[in-house]
Amino acid sequence: MFVDQAKIYIKAGDGGDGAVSFHREKYVAAGGPDGGDGGKGGDVIFKVDDNISNLIDFRYKKKYVAEKGQNGGAKCSYGKSAPDVVIKVPRGTVVKEIETGRILADMSGDEPVIIAHGGKGGRGNAHFATSTRQIPRFAKPGFRGEEFNVQLELKLIADVGLVGFPNVGKSTLISVVSAAKPKIANYHFTTLTPVLGVVKVGEERSFVMADIPGLIEGASEGVGLGHEFLRHVERCRLIVHVVDVSGIEGRDPIEDFEAINKELKNFSQELAEAPQIVAANKTDMAQPEQTERFKEYIAQKGLPYYEISAATTMGTQELVYGINEELAKLPPVKRFEAQPLTREEVEAKTRSNRDFTVTVEDGIYFVEADWLYDILRTANMDDYSSLQYFQNVLVSSGIIRKLEAMGIEEGDTVAIFDFEFEYVK
Ligand code: GDP
Ligand code: MG
Repeated sequence: MFVDQAKIYIKAGDGGDGAVSFHREKYVAAGGPDGGDGGKGGDVIFKVDDNISNLIDFRYKKKYVAEKGQNGGAKCSYGKSAPDVVIKVPRGTVVKEIETGRILADMSGDEPVIIAHGGKGGRGNAHFATSTRQIPRFAKPGFRGEEFNVQLELKLIADVGLVGFPNVGKSTLISVVSAAKPKIANYHFTTLTPVLGVVKVGEERSFVMADIPGLIEGASEGVGLGHEFLRHVERCRLIVHVVDVSGIEGRDPIEDFEAINKELKNFSQELAEAPQIVAANKTDMAQPEQTERFKEYIAQKGLPYYEISAATTMGTQELVYGINEELAKLPPVKRFEAQPLTREEVEAKTRSNRDFTVTVEDGIYFVEADWLYDILRTANMDDYSSLQYFQNVLVSSGIIRKLEAMGIEEGDTVAIFDFEFEYVK
């Protein structure tokens, strides 16, 4: 099965938490703070692997989560960074964020791309000693790793895309001009997966040709085969439109030609406007007046035109040279521009998650928030600077604002886990 679309979830590792620790040594009563920083969370990295030709693996594994960085330790020891998760994809895979539709990467080159960045480690209490705050009994939690739901879309990278009705001889053509060996048969839809072939032009030059499964009318509306394969033509620099001029299947070459072009246009205006060469195939079986009529029609359109017989290779070499000449005038294969996240968006994604709920029961305000637990655990309410940090967190996270909005008054009790205090304005 050829799978060229998949949806997966990726999550980079959170940063490890900073440690709260104090230097201990024989005969030294109270040493200074020596809690180390947490390690960085693992990144989620995409990399091209040319041994992979489609996205079928992602049908089975849909979650890719990197580990959290190690927490910091005593004696200023840093937590270890977590290993990266590397996702291998076929060349030409476009990675899109589902939520916004934006392109995060076009995996066409060899450079690995970090899509989800691991969170930085939190700072240990060793950083928070100042002349006035000598015993910092708090540390910072690690930053969150980025997470995305992404859509993977394989858009093959080829210079030339063959399009045309089923059975017109596309697979035969690619098999005679390149080493590609697609299935060829005298019935429709034999080509179920796009096939790439390298076409040599003389000794030095070459280009990549893609045999795209046949388009049928209505394909752009998702009827039958074809539509789903059109995305593989999107990057092509040149379209070679193969038409059966023998009309052996009882169809008219001009009608066929127009029908396919209409499908391209329905799929995208850009495809409709892409440079096109016409290859009139099966001339060995065609009546000369049939071929002549079609030739004149294409001449009126001003498109480059080649008469071939793929089965007997007549004219195919001339077509190859013609394609090569056209390609020389065209820009390189299209790459999709990545739209990286803004700094604000990254910050919003990686800020430690500060959701909370407040409920009132019998005049007591209960605050619930998982992330607060870590801060409380490392805080020491007898320590002035630690308490101050804790209060700052209550303000910056919006908890105080929420309590006030709920009508808290001076002297009311606030409960956070097993810690209770009186609200003071
Ligand atoms: P595709 O569906 O467009 O890939 O078409 P195929 O390459 O599979 O060819 C369909 C049928 O047409 C096969 O039986 C081929 O042998 C035949 N065919 C292809 N090219 C020619 C040609 O130039 N002349 C003749 N007579 N038959 C051809
Ligand atoms: Mg075919």
